[in-house]
Amino acid sequence: MTKGIIVIKPKLLAFLSANFAQAMALYPFILVKDENCACNTNLINHERIHLRQQIEMLILPFYLVYALEYLYRRLQKKNHYAAYRHISFEREAYANENNENYLQSRRFWNFLKWT
Ligand SMILES: [Zn+2]
Repeated sequence: MTKGIIVIKPKLLAFLSANFAQAMALYPFILVKDENCACNTNLINHERIHLRQQIEMLILPFYLVYALEYLYRRLQKKNHYAAYRHISFEREAYANENNENYLQSRRFWNFLKWT
């Protein structure tokens, strides 16, 4: 198991993520629902991108901006999943989750590229 990854009860993760995610970046940890998720390289890379975003936004403002953008996208897209996938933080993470070297060359606040 990689440092900083915590397997939590699926029901707790479902509660924290509104019954949605297999994993969640909650600085400084990555919470996963099971060992399979803990070994999923793309999933963990996705969550590591979120940890970097959180650090760059000084943690708490990240969650506020994430929630506000979700609400904006929800009004725009009229659908939970579409709104979630269009959040700039998610767009950056999904676009780069299969690139294990992404964080080494990523620019500061690069999520703005996906706004
Ligand atoms: Zn994500």
